[in-house]
Parts: sequence; structure tokens; C-alpha cells
Amino acid sequence: MPNLYGAIEAGGTKFVCAAGTGPQDIETASFPTLQPRATMAPVIEFFRAHGATRLSAIGIGSFGPVDLHPQSPKFGYITSTPKPGWQNFDLAGAVRSAIDVPIGFDTDVAASALGEARWGAAQHLSDFVYVTIGTGIGGAAVVGGRVLHGLIHAEMGHLRIPHDRARDPFAGVCPYHADCWEGLAAGPAMQARWGKPAQDLPADHAAWALEAHYIALGLVNLVFTLSPQRIIIGGGVMQQPQMFPLVRHEFTSLINNYLLDERVLSHLDTFLVPPALEGRAGALGCFVLAEQAYANAANVPHAEG
Ligand code: ADP
Ligand code: ZN
Repeated sequence: MPNLYGAIEAGGTKFVCAAGTGPQDIETASFPTLQPRATMAPVIEFFRAHGATRLSAIGIGSFGPVDLHPQSPKFGYITSTPKPGWQNFDLAGAVRSAIDVPIGFDTDVAASALGEARWGAAQHLSDFVYVTIGTGIGGAAVVGGRVLHGLIHAEMGHLRIPHDRARDPFAGVCPYHADCWEGLAAGPAMQARWGKPAQDLPADHAAWALEAHYIALGLVNLVFTLSPQRIIIGGGVMQQPQMFPLVRHEFTSLINNYLLDERVLSHLDTFLVPPALEGRAGALGCFVLAEQAYANAANVPHAEG
């Protein structure tokens, strides 16, 4: 019998809960993100209804910033989020105090990266990047088969990218940096710049060429910094069918024949790719986090990511 794991994909608009063993065996439910206490009640109830006592571990992939240092007194906390009510919330602790199993904890994008590594578009790759272009821009790098945490964790959405104010006078919406990558190119930036949600802009609108330019600028920086074998790009904004061709085109022109050779540039459809697991990458990745926590608690060797 494979181990039964729990998953919590903690997002700014909804919490997705899952229980199961993998893509063939997963039950999910989602709950709106309200204040912490009101959000956690149905989450705990979900696991109680799905045999909480039979779970081997629970994996949490959370919006952030989060504290990921196992030695820190605030390990498992959401830290300096601008989201009201959630600053300094002990998310891992709230789950553990209700359900006494090992808890794996990482960012939501790290979980998605791990899900894609195990079952999706990054299988057998040791070094890749997962980026999402949605309500924000988030990214996680897997380096040598492990999610790169470093000092805190990557915050790729806040990369500073060139902003040509003659072409785009829009100031940007990031509360910290105004015109960082996310401030210029996440969904809310598109909505603020063009006056309507991105999904309501026609496919031939000038918004998409500018958007592709910004996305490609960030991707080029990631390629030159991390040398990934592949970049997986998810999130609502990339649902537009014109986006991948536009982004690959912009990417090629920004690379300008440096570093990447024809073997990569003529096959960008396998280098810049959508997630294979679509909406399930995060929850499935939380199973991988749970599996790692279970193995760590049992102190047995396990396969990373
Ligand atoms: P989240 O980031 O909250 O998990 P999404 O990845 O769906 O959720 O991102 C939501 C953002 O993506 C919103 O700003 C929305 O306008 C935009 N978006 C959602 N669907 C589409 C679409 N089909 N085309 C373009 N933009 C979209
Ligand atoms: Zn920023």
C-alpha cells in the first residue's frame, strides 16, 4: 500500500486541499481564502473527513513570503505578506496542532515545481525553473534536483527589468517596487494598465506584445542567472493561446544569439513550456513535500524532488 498523503495549496484567493497517493488517486476540495481562522476550519474538516489518522504526512505549499528554515522559531509561518490578517500566521503549526503528522512546508511555486518534476513537464531534469504569471509572478528554481532556498527563498516576481517609459508610461503596481517584473506584467498590472481584466482583451490587442516582451525579459534574466534545462511557465495570463508563440519570439530576439545555440533556439517549444499538470501541479507537489517530511521524520533515505 502506498502512503496516503495530505496536501494544502495555500493561495491568496483559495486554499486547495487534497488527499491521495498521486495523480491517479487524488481527491480535492477548495475553500476561499478568508481570515486565517475562518480559512483553516474547513481545511482541517476536509482532512478529518478523509481519514486524517491514516495520513502519513501533509505537505503545504503556501503563498508568501514564508519562513522555511527548520531551525527558525517561525518555521512554517507566513511572514511579511501584505495580505490583511495573514502576517506572522503560523500555518504549519495550525495544521500540526489539529492533525499530528509530519508537515512538509515550502512556497506554492516550489510545490508546483516539485509536482512537475515528479509527474509533469520536468521529469528527469535536475535543473529547471517553474514560473507562474497570474495574480502575481512567482518562481522556483530546482538546482541539482532540489528546490533552491538559499537565504530565504527566491522571489522571482520582484526581478527588476528594463522599463521603457516612452513605450509604456504605466507606473506599475508592486507596492514595494512599482515597476518590478510582477508590477509590470502580472494580471493585475494588465488590468490596471488597460482598464479591463487580461482575459477580456482581444488577442490582437497591443497589450499582448508588450506583455510578451516583459515576460521574455524576465525569462532571459533567469536563463543567464541559472542556466536551467527548461522553464515551465504557468498561470492565468499564459492561458492565452497567443502568448507562448509571442514569448518565444521575444525571447529569441532578446537572447540575440548569445549562449544558447540552435539546438535550443530552434526547439523553444521544448524549452519554454506550459505545465503538464495544469491546475494540479501545486496539490501534487504538496504530496512530494509530504513524502519528504515523512521520510525526514522516519529518518530514512528518500528521493529528492
Ligand atoms: P492565481 O495567480 O491567483 O493563482 P491565476 O493564475 O488564474 O490565479 O491568475 C489570475 C490572473 O490571471 C488574473 O489577473 C486574471 O486576470 C488573469 N487571467 C486569468 N485567466 C486568464 C486568461 N484566460 N487570459 C488572460 N489572463 C487571465
Ligand atoms: Zn516588486
